[in-house]
Amino acid sequence: TRIRPSSKRCAVIGGSGFLGRHLVEKLLGKGYTVSVFDIRQSYELPGVTFHQGDLCDKQALLTALQGVSLVFHCASPAPASDDKALFQRVNIQGTHTVLQACTEAGVQKVVLTSSASVVFEGTDIKDGREDLPYAKKPIDYYTETKIEQEKVRTLLPHTETKIEQEKVRTLLPHTETKIEQEKVRTLLPHTETKIEQEKLVLKACDKEKGLLTVAIRPHGIFGPRDPQLVPILVDTARRGNMKFIIGDGSNLVDFTFVDNVVHGLILSAESLRPESPICGKAYHITNDEPVRF
Ligand code: NAD
Repeated sequence: TRIRPSSKRCAVIGGSGFLGRHLVEKLLGKGYTVSVFDIRQSYELPGVTFHQGDLCDKQALLTALQGVSLVFHCASPAPASDDKALFQRVNIQGTHTVLQACTEAGVQKVVLTSSASVVFEGTDIKDGREDLPYAKKPIDYYTETKIEQEKVRTLLPHTETKIEQEKVRTLLPHTETKIEQEKVRTLLPHTETKIEQEKLVLKACDKEKGLLTVAIRPHGIFGPRDPQLVPILVDTARRGNMKFIIGDGSNLVDFTFVDNVVHGLILSAESLRPESPICGKAYHITNDEPVRF
């Protein structure tokens, strides 16, 4: 027997993750009934039902989506992985399976957490709008800087003096070569699969069939319990590996506080109605001004 979807009943796929858990907590506070679907359970919370499973498994998803009208998809393998097959399986095939399961379970709305990197091709973007085309040669920003870090360290172990810093600055403009870009792309297919994932979700928006979709594109997310961004920065700084400048020192990077991303996700879910102009669209989300990095 199928339970009739209730508008306040939602599921968070990837709800055990950093963003997912913040979203779950906010949804509970707003009176939603929340189910979490994730390959791991990282916490317990009164009022939350956990379903442990792989999002590539439609049967497991169907069990978790019983009676659910709203699905937030915030699951992804860790972006630093270089397992191309895993990204393709989870981000592309898995998202396809999620959309199929949503249709079969009678889910009415799907909100995807995409990424601003889907439009980043290695050149600066300021005040980038949503009509920017998808990147043809997506680069993972973090990996690019990691590779550059390694290089700089190999080239210049004594970066602590002003002279060395100057040298590094002279050396670095040459490092943005096509070869490096190719390397990065081969190393990190994450962004490529995020583009495919977003396209799949937005294309699935079908008012006739009664499935509405929208995507939110944050860049770096920070906030309490962040397992990646700030801890990695702090660790890198402690190890003395940040004593150089990449580029001319005026690079900007966009970071968004996790609660603002959560706010954007819930706002888009609540505004998603058949007559709404946001149906099938992607939106960048940011705090305010980008940060000098
Ligand atoms: P996270 O790693 O903390 O959480 C991801 C969750 O997905 C984990 O709990 C993991 O167990 C789950 N998961 C992975 N594979 C799964 C599978 N096959 N089936 C079910 N669950 C699976 O990551 P996060 O930082 O919370 O990111 C959430 C989303 O936001 C991701 O889609 C990510 O691409 C996007 N995003 C994150 C950032 C950031 O800075 N953290 C920036 C831009 C976009």
